[in-house]
Amino acid sequence: MEPQEHHIPPVPLITPVQLRQPLSYNTFPCAFLKNLALSQDMIANIRNAQLEDDIDNAALLYQLRNPSRDVPELDEQTQISLELFSALAAHPKSAYEEACHIFNKTCPDSPLHSYWVVKSHLEKLSGVMQIKMDMCPNSCLAFTSPFANLQQCPECAEP
Ligand SMILES: [Zn+2]
Repeated sequence: MEPQEHHIPPVPLITPVQLRQPLSYNTFPCAFLKNLALSQDMIANIRNAQLEDDIDNAALLYQLRNPSRDVPELDEQTQISLELFSALAAHPKSAYEEACHIFNKTCPDSPLHSYWVVKSHLEKLSGVMQIKMDMCPNSCLAFTSPFANLQQCPECAEP
């Protein structure tokens, strides 16, 4: 059996004039190696990314593009709730709920806001909201851009 010839597409030459220009994605030849081509595709997708790609909520888009410049007056419960929420941001939801439960037992006349109420306050105040994306359960990648239509992770084969 004779070895098969592989067709390697010609690589466009970069002229000396192009080399003197600032580097641009468009001056590089298109890669034909699978992973290199995927990387170029990802770079092109990032360059062309828009908020509308992942956010279809018009009110949220408006809020992100026009953040409030006002500093709102906050009641004491909201302020303490926000501070506690921020202090426990790296912890699971249950940590805030447990701390709230303890605080509310101590100060039953001025209970702190629930997790969801304080989270909603924070989103309204900051203009930053959680966007959920499908991801590999093993955190290999997000199923977005060139991976948007895959049914399993190309790295670990997890569905
Ligand atoms: Zn994976």
